[in-house]
Amino acid sequence: MLTGLMQQVPLTLNMIRERVAVLYPDKTVTTRFPDRLHVATYREIVERAGQLANAIRECGVDRGARVATLAWNSHRHLELYLAVPCMGAVLHTINARLSSGDIEKLLADAEDELLFVDQSIWRTICADIRVPACVKRVVVMEDEHVDEAAAPSTDQARLCALYEAFIEAQPPNIDWPSLGEDEASGLCYTSGTTGDPKGVLYSHRSTTLHTLGCLFVDGIAMRERDVCLPAVPMFHANAWGFPYAAMMAGAALALLCRQTDPASLVELINAAGVTMATAVPTVWSNFLDHLRAEPASAARIASMKRLPVGGAAVSRSLIDGFAQFGIEVMHCWGMTEISPLGLTNVERSDLAPEERPHTRTAQGLPIPTCTVRIVDEHGRRLPWDGTAPGELQVASPWAAAGYFGGSAGPDGSSRSFTRDEGREWLRTGDIATIDPHGYVRIVDRAKDLIKSGGEWISSQAIELQLANHPDVREAAAIGRPDPKWQERPIACIVLQHDTPENRKRFEMQFKPYMSQFFPKWQIPDEISFWNDLPKGKTGKIDKMVLRQQFMRNREG
Ligand code: AMP
Repeated sequence: MLTGLMQQVPLTLNMIRERVAVLYPDKTVTTRFPDRLHVATYREIVERAGQLANAIRECGVDRGARVATLAWNSHRHLELYLAVPCMGAVLHTINARLSSGDIEKLLADAEDELLFVDQSIWRTICADIRVPACVKRVVVMEDEHVDEAAAPSTDQARLCALYEAFIEAQPPNIDWPSLGEDEASGLCYTSGTTGDPKGVLYSHRSTTLHTLGCLFVDGIAMRERDVCLPAVPMFHANAWGFPYAAMMAGAALALLCRQTDPASLVELINAAGVTMATAVPTVWSNFLDHLRAEPASAARIASMKRLPVGGAAVSRSLIDGFAQFGIEVMHCWGMTEISPLGLTNVERSDLAPEERPHTRTAQGLPIPTCTVRIVDEHGRRLPWDGTAPGELQVASPWAAAGYFGGSAGPDGSSRSFTRDEGREWLRTGDIATIDPHGYVRIVDRAKDLIKSGGEWISSQAIELQLANHPDVREAAAIGRPDPKWQERPIACIVLQHDTPENRKRFEMQFKPYMSQFFPKWQIPDEISFWNDLPKGKTGKIDKMVLRQQFMRNREG
């Protein structure tokens, strides 16, 4: 063993907490609530995170215990982002758009001990949640005016506290523990490769390295002088890691609660002087339409320079459209299992001029420390020739090597991961080509899910309920391209007794029937009636054929 090696500094989120408190205490976090702007400094955020951590400790939450949030983007959610992992517990951010039944299942699966919930969510979505026994306490994060009518129901009252009262009496100072970099810091469930939710367990090390990746110039290039607006929800893969990256870089933050409509975005960008913002393409195509229609809005967002956009493919027209307003769109690709960023489209200096326009729509180059390959169905590497399509696989210190609690695929195997060539690989389920320069282009999706407005809809779950309907003989759900939402689900149906009257009757019953099982946005917009559904070699419904033929072959 050689002596004289470098210091062994554990890569933990305490680094971020300390750095932002010491170097950038006066930088601001602006939250736009529906009725007001709230501005806090990082000094206040870190002090309140200390109070929060003390209060959480008093509830008997130990190292490694899970603390859930059901919340939109706000300063309080940011305080949880710091307090929970830095005290050694695990922040479990739950998607606030899920049904109450799904939320209950996730709370139980993660064995969450505390639940922090926005009052607006508590009032609407959670009204009928049965909080599982593992949850010792529910802490409701108040709207501006504490609304007595929205106070928790009597049954749940024993569990409840209001956030401000919960932290109020606590001192801001806390003896933050020394943590190991391999301790868990966060938990986020994905439906990324099948319809079943699976937990992705981030470590302090993976999150810290991902944070640094966002700061790389050929990553997201976030820096101190930026004002960053992550308009992706903080429950979705740590808002793409941007809140942690902003605090590490010393960039100010602007948080949009839940509204991502163009008018709200313009107002916040203008108020906080936002320089970079991120969201899924649906949000930005609406925003672009708005800028074109309202020149006054364009003048109000002059501080905006860069838009890292991902979650779904970014079109050439979006890139060109924003360029006209002096804003650079950076195409990114990632998934919850990769913390989430894996690729960013930065222009290589050795690209020939004629290669540039086409390359700009690729999902991008692997961010330093991410390694990619494409493989055929036997797991053999495919060439980087820009034409051979194969499954994209990723090896990275911030990619998952398994799921929380060892969840496996639907066939009982852990199909999402493989180990060879001396590394662990995450099987992304995305089909891609890689060109000789290393640019990855996603060309298809092997996983059978529909992505609408940045959120997944399980086609399996829809099919299951359709198949349970007594009038249905066969059913499939597929995604149809949609200019606003990127994809919307369509139900392809074969009726038991196919007559015009029965079709009409089924159409009438469809939405009330489906709304028993799904939130409104997950219900297919359209029913397509078929005499028979196309089948592949194994007798399974061939969805590729269904998707291709949908436009021209549909009947009814
Ligand atoms: P999630 O885990 O919900 O973040 O979803 C990850 C998945 O979203 C990826 O595996 C892709 O299928 C899709 N995705 C993310 N970014 C892009 C992109 N830039 N282009 C196309 N698909 C994308």
